[in-house]
Amino acid sequence: MDCRPLQLAIIGSGPAGFYSAYRLLKKLPDAHITMFEQLPVPYGLVRYGVAPDHPEVKKSSETLVDVAKYPHFHFAGNVSIGTDANSLPLPVIAQNYDAILFAYGASRDRKLDIPGEGLRGVLSARAFVGWYNGLPEYADLDPDLTKGDTAVVIGQGNVALDVTRTLLAPLEELRKTDISEQAVEVLSRSRVKSVKVIGRRGPLQAPYTIKEIRELMYLPGVGFAPPPESWDDLVGVQRKRLPRQLRRIAELLEKGSKTPLEASNKAWQLGYLRSPAAFLSSNNEDLEAVGFGQTEYELEPSSLVNGDPSADLNALRKLKVRSTGGKTLVHASLAFRSVGYQSEPLEGMKDVGVPFDQALGVIPNDRWGRVLSPGHGPAGALTAGHVPGMYCAGWVKRGPTGVIASTMDDAFTTADVITKDWEGGVKFMSDEAESGGKGGWDAVKHEMKRRSLRVVSWQDWEKIDALERARGKEKGKEREKIRSVAEMLEVLDG
Ligand SMILES: Cc1cc2nc3c(=O)[nH]c(=O)nc-3n(C[C@H](O)[C@H](O)[C@H](O)COP(=O)(O)OP(=O)(O)OC[C@H]3O[C@@H](n4cnc5c(N)ncnc54)[C@H](O)[C@@H]3O)c2cc1C
Repeated sequence: MDCRPLQLAIIGSGPAGFYSAYRLLKKLPDAHITMFEQLPVPYGLVRYGVAPDHPEVKKSSETLVDVAKYPHFHFAGNVSIGTDANSLPLPVIAQNYDAILFAYGASRDRKLDIPGEGLRGVLSARAFVGWYNGLPEYADLDPDLTKGDTAVVIGQGNVALDVTRTLLAPLEELRKTDISEQAVEVLSRSRVKSVKVIGRRGPLQAPYTIKEIRELMYLPGVGFAPPPESWDDLVGVQRKRLPRQLRRIAELLEKGSKTPLEASNKAWQLGYLRSPAAFLSSNNEDLEAVGFGQTEYELEPSSLVNGDPSADLNALRKLKVRSTGGKTLVHASLAFRSVGYQSEPLEGMKDVGVPFDQALGVIPNDRWGRVLSPGHGPAGALTAGHVPGMYCAGWVKRGPTGVIASTMDDAFTTADVITKDWEGGVKFMSDEAESGGKGGWDAVKHEMKRRSLRVVSWQDWEKIDALERARGKEKGKEREKIRSVAEMLEVLDG
């Protein structure tokens, strides 16, 4: 074991970054950690993804508040790792730290690659979520919600349901959350009364969770319109033969909304077994309809049920679909693409020997978080084939699925592996000649000054945080987020 403290750079301040730092400092309290974040503000998707009406979920960010109290922890906000003029190149970090932990998440959304995706009215759920959450990148999105009364959401994950809830929720409820003021203003003019959430597979295969469906079923004044097919046909298995988890989902869907459809002024609907084929327009500019190809199960759902709940659950969840050749059309002036996020390689990763798997959209790793050398064989080996000192956690390690709790477990695993390697004398980025240790934050700080990068420290973030809370208080809400990086920096530098 090296007796000097570990110098670790973490790239990204979302849950993967902050839970890793938290766990590592519990085990190696003397470790020196610098957390680089491209935005002036921390927390990643906890701040800019999680829906405004889920404030309890945002409490996870308090972990980083605890981490920031460690004397050798430095938050370096407003520092993007990359190669453009306003970034810090990865090789500079590699020279100055023993280890790098990649925790930069998934910054793009998956496209459908079907005709008409560029039409006015076709939006990415990532952009819409970022916009209502005050993400600077989408501050100017300004979606037009006045063109018609029907919106289609393509995809049935929890992000799709967040978008649906935000479109339909009573404004007086949303107003109390940290949703951006501009979003409230646009939503107050919205004409959208019906949201159709459409997926390729069936009710038991969709990636939503029961909690998110229940929330929609309980939205005041909002009814649930059952799909055109019967639930029996869609589910395809007698309810009592279903594993408990799936039976609860099926029962909830069949029970429907608390507000009866007839008594509601807005409604949502789940559409199944439809694969998006094209966005359609008669003027080649504005969305008018979404074309879908009909799908069907490859196997009879009931043939997969054999009385072993965990095997049945697995088989039913994984049931695939195929095209029937049939087509349907849904008229809508607004469509949200919500079919997942995607990670990308960081610029300069090759220069420091870190590969990226484009097909899977992850940094190849041994499942514990050690980065595997380019061309390395099967995952799971202990140390052979690892890139010394390179680790990953969160969505860039596992792919963009899973909630904050699973990201926390994953971050803890990576932090434990770093601790084990450091204590076990495994090779890091340092070598014998550097027994005095790496320069860490002190060295990088000078480098950033030399490059005229305006680093936002934790104390700076606390000023932004305080101002946002004060602005929110005036409006009777938790916070009013500052939506532009320039304004954030102006708050600090006057
Ligand atoms: C819309 C949405 C809603 C969600 N809602 C919930 C919910 O209600 N409950 C729940 O449990 N989970 C929810 N999740 C899932 C949860 O947000 C993720 O599991 C988690 O945020 C993944 O953590 P991460 O740290 O890997 O990525 P992120 O949270 O994305 O953090 C990555 C960080 O890296 C930074 N970064 C990126 N590139 C660079 C660079 N080049 N240089 C420096 N920094 C960089 C980013 O700015 C970001 O701050 C939601 C996800 C989405 C997309």
